[in-house]
Amino acid sequence: MFSLPEWTFEFHGHRCPFMPIGYRMGTLALEKLGVGKSLDHQMHVFSEMGVGHPQGCMQDGIMSATGATFGKGMIERLNYGKVAAIFWYPGKKGAVRIALKNEFQDRLAPHEFFKFRKQGIEPSEIPESVCLDIINIVLNADNDELFNVSELPNFEYEPVKGSFNKAKCEVCGEYVFERYLRLKDGKKVCIPCSEREGEETVIHLPNLKTSVKK
Ligand SMILES: [Zn+2]
Ligand SMILES: [Zn+2]
Repeated sequence: MFSLPEWTFEFHGHRCPFMPIGYRMGTLALEKLGVGKSLDHQMHVFSEMGVGHPQGCMQDGIMSATGATFGKGMIERLNYGKVAAIFWYPGKKGAVRIALKNEFQDRLAPHEFFKFRKQGIEPSEIPESVCLDIINIVLNADNDELFNVSELPNFEYEPVKGSFNKAKCEVCGEYVFERYLRLKDGKKVCIPCSEREGEETVIHLPNLKTSVKK
């Protein structure tokens, strides 16, 4: 049976099945790539999850297992609405994509845990025995039951080049890192002071050079 460290539940906040699924997915990605947990800026994860759907908890498990955290800027969302992620590591050719199998999602779906969730009850309010039971299903499954793994040999990614350069916004006076400075009426300004709206505020997308569709 797979086990995961208690601190991962403390970090995540509640006991649900999807954080452990993500932890297992991340652990499998490390194995497939033949690397250890990233202490610094190595592993990049492209989560295929989006917003406004369940199971996003998986991403906390992925971050915990791989060290590719939000704070280090190592995990990004592709917003495809799929329970899957792509794992890229510098110096390794291509990337590994891991998706949670439909069959496993269907197997979990009838569990009592989701009856509570569909009534709007948060995981921390669900009886602990129900949570532990569904987590055990995840921990007792083997990788083949859980995941489809595929190699993406042509996947290329170029991490954003880091820069310490910054300047003061000429309107509000706060420091802004250079990449995020905008020009407005001839002044260097921050994004809020530029009063740009909607799509204009989209300023960074992962620099994927290849399609990830199968
Ligand atoms: Zn959760
Ligand atoms: Zn400003």
